[in-house]
Amino acid sequence: MQVIDALSLDYSEWKKLIEEMCYPRFRADQICQWIYSHKVLDYNGMSNVPKDLRAKLNENILMTQPILIKTFNSGGTIKYLWQLLDGERVESVLLNHGGHKTACISTQVGCPLACAFCATGSMGFKRNLSVGEILGQFLLMEKMQDDKAINNIVFMGMGEPLLNEDNLFKAIRILNHEKMRNLGARHITISTSGIVPGIEDLADFEIPLRLSVSLHASNDELRSRLMPINKKYNLQRLVDALKFYKDRTGERITIEYILIANINDEPKYAYEMAALLNGLEPYINLIPYNPVKNNKKFKRSSDGAIKKFCAALSELKIEFEVRRERGSDIAAACGQLAADY
Ligand code: SAH
Ligand code: SF4
Repeated sequence: MQVIDALSLDYSEWKKLIEEMCYPRFRADQICQWIYSHKVLDYNGMSNVPKDLRAKLNENILMTQPILIKTFNSGGTIKYLWQLLDGERVESVLLNHGGHKTACISTQVGCPLACAFCATGSMGFKRNLSVGEILGQFLLMEKMQDDKAINNIVFMGMGEPLLNEDNLFKAIRILNHEKMRNLGARHITISTSGIVPGIEDLADFEIPLRLSVSLHASNDELRSRLMPINKKYNLQRLVDALKFYKDRTGERITIEYILIANINDEPKYAYEMAALLNGLEPYINLIPYNPVKNNKKFKRSSDGAIKKFCAALSELKIEFEVRRERGSDIAAACGQLAADY
């Protein structure tokens, strides 16, 4: 018999299973409420569910979840190291700022895209995470927040979300569903390195979430050196896909741009980027490069260089912000997740 994983089930699948077990459909609502509102991930704790149904659930629908191995704290930032059923490990990060909590969630063990500046990319690719493994990170983190909800979720942890599209989209539908976690679309962000077919699919996705795109270079020669995926989907194809997405959804796109000393941080690249993205009116997130273990090739841009780059963007009337560093001392900042403990 196929093993059924509770956290991978959506609302209609829960209802169908409960009906097949000959119980009324409202029992599915109760179970979903226990899991997604109360974060009770154990059938025995679902006190208004009949005992015989709980016994059947225990037998047939496994409530597997990531095991917490370790946490790392730095100010408001907490990094969680999880172990999955097959022994693989992933990390998630909780950011506390301005009274809001944001969970940064992983979608793959490792990443196949091998960006030159990224710790996850240097560990290679092991496998995609299941729907339940994606949701499990979020639910367990939320459970640990003294009943204070996590307000936002960003798919910016380990891996490329749009290379695990089916599981990612299903996890998002579950998070957003009113009978499940009921997390608003505006509170969900996907970050992608520029997977063109995935961006096109997102343009037609029924949940209007937020899209961030990791650009990091404004010409193909440099971008292909930093991000090998650019050889498959070059800048022209990427920009075309982003225009399609914008036309279709009316949504503003965020562009992420790491500032690496003497690589991509001269003002001429700000001008090049403005020309490339002309007509897209994006919001630019500048991320000073975060050091990565065993990577001596890159350095963070100097404060002076960052200032000059910002001045060029201001002159070009492009909206931007410089993302403040959080958690780099515990290797929890962008691009530092490697689960190598
Ligand atoms: N694979 C997706 C999402 C995970 S990476 C993507 O690439 O968008 C999350 C963000 O961290 C991306 O913008 C990525 O480019 C950035 N990043 C990777 N390594 C970094 C580093 N060393 N310093 C700063 N940002 C980094
Ligand atoms: Fe993968 Fe994103 Fe890291 Fe590139 S930056 S290797 S796409 S996780």
